[in-house]
Amino acid sequence: MSRPAAVAIVGAGPAGLFAAERLAAAGAAVTVYDRMPSPARKLLLAGRGGLNLTHSEPRDAFIGRYPALPPRVSAALDAFPPAALRAWAEGLGEPTFVGTSGRVFPRAFKASPLVRAWLARLAGLGVRLVMRHRLVGIAPQSLVLEGPEGRSDVSFDAALLALGGASWPRMGSDGGWTSLLEGLGVPVAPLRPSNMGVDIAWSADFAARFAGSPLKAVAFSLGERRVRGEAVITAGGLEGGAIYALSTALREAVAEAGARLALDLKPDLSPEAVAARLAGARPKDSLSAVLKKRLSLSPQAVALLRETEGGTLPRDLPALAARVKHAVLAVSGVRPLDRAISTAGGVRFDALGEGFELAALPGIFVAGEMLDWEAPTGGYLLQATFATGAAAAAGIAARLGLPPDADTAPDW
Ligand SMILES: Cc1cc2nc3c(=O)[nH]c(=O)nc-3n(C[C@H](O)[C@H](O)[C@H](O)COP(=O)(O)OP(=O)(O)OC[C@H]3O[C@@H](n4cnc5c(N)ncnc54)[C@H](O)[C@@H]3O)c2cc1C
Repeated sequence: MSRPAAVAIVGAGPAGLFAAERLAAAGAAVTVYDRMPSPARKLLLAGRGGLNLTHSEPRDAFIGRYPALPPRVSAALDAFPPAALRAWAEGLGEPTFVGTSGRVFPRAFKASPLVRAWLARLAGLGVRLVMRHRLVGIAPQSLVLEGPEGRSDVSFDAALLALGGASWPRMGSDGGWTSLLEGLGVPVAPLRPSNMGVDIAWSADFAARFAGSPLKAVAFSLGERRVRGEAVITAGGLEGGAIYALSTALREAVAEAGARLALDLKPDLSPEAVAARLAGARPKDSLSAVLKKRLSLSPQAVALLRETEGGTLPRDLPALAARVKHAVLAVSGVRPLDRAISTAGGVRFDALGEGFELAALPGIFVAGEMLDWEAPTGGYLLQATFATGAAAAAGIAARLGLPPDADTAPDW
């Protein structure tokens, strides 16, 4: 009897582990290597925020969230849509639920039970996990890994690189693979921060009083893009979902000349409605009291209005109403990659042949966040990570003559 096909996967994050599951189920002998002492560290970290696995919105809205979505990722999402990811989580004993604004979470609202059940399933499928082994070289048909006992060459019938981006490098993905792959002729788009905070020079008093305070139900605009949501004031700027959703535009604007980010503190009210409410104020009330009473603005929102344009509030009520609807914040920079939630850039899609295989390195496939796509928070990152893991596994199965995945993709 011939031996089973040997698949080496480097990167024990969700992309690598999901491909491992699919390929082991198809009959391959799968070994997963990772430089960290334990697998799925970033997934476990994501679980601290509730583990937003995916999103429940319809296909076209979902697909539309990805800026400049590469067609290969779009096809991978159609083959492995949110319903498939939810069914997979349920199969591991973690049924999902739809939370606020349509986001999807596992029942436990964290990653650890899911990861525990997943690792047990992988062990049952015979997947071997080899921790503390870092990929340091690639030779034809072998990977060079450096572990506690030194360097070793690992040969394979097919290999998958699922090395992640370069945000939160403490979790394992540090982007060290870029020079390795570029040196072997693989085109890589520069890694940049995505879903990152912005730098704004608050006054010392404002930063000391309000760092950590939320701005709820607001809208931010940059150029043509307008995003409603929440943000959090930090000592040096702003973080949070509504800011992250503007990542691409903010990065580009800041690289050019600094960005002027417009904040609307009352997105549900027209400028006229805001002006009308302010017009009803009692003359003896201070401007702060008027803003709090007539518009229910929080203390941090009122203080932030003062921060913009010279540290004072306009005394003229129509001008004050205009400021509430359009307060301009001068953004001087974006937070660096190691502080971002995720990474833009990565292995370019023109580097790939069929099935997510590297054209320059036949037999070696790529999946997950190390590919050149980006997504906002809201479950879109993990969905595309799993979907590209599934697509690369299908590519490897096709190359090795393994049976394709038996599941038919559920509808969106
Ligand atoms: C704070 C935070 C919260 C998040 N929350 C969410 C969320 O709620 N929803 C969501 O959709 N997404 C979320 N994300 C993003 C999501 O976690 C990532 O997109 C996802 O983990 C990417 O998976 P991956 O398998 O591609 O890479 P990773 O999970 O980064 O895994 C890559 C693995 O490769 C290993 N590796 C790297 N280089 C080498 C090497 N040279 N040799 C050996 N091993 C190596 C690393 O150690 C790592 O284990 C969050 C991210 C952060 C930082």
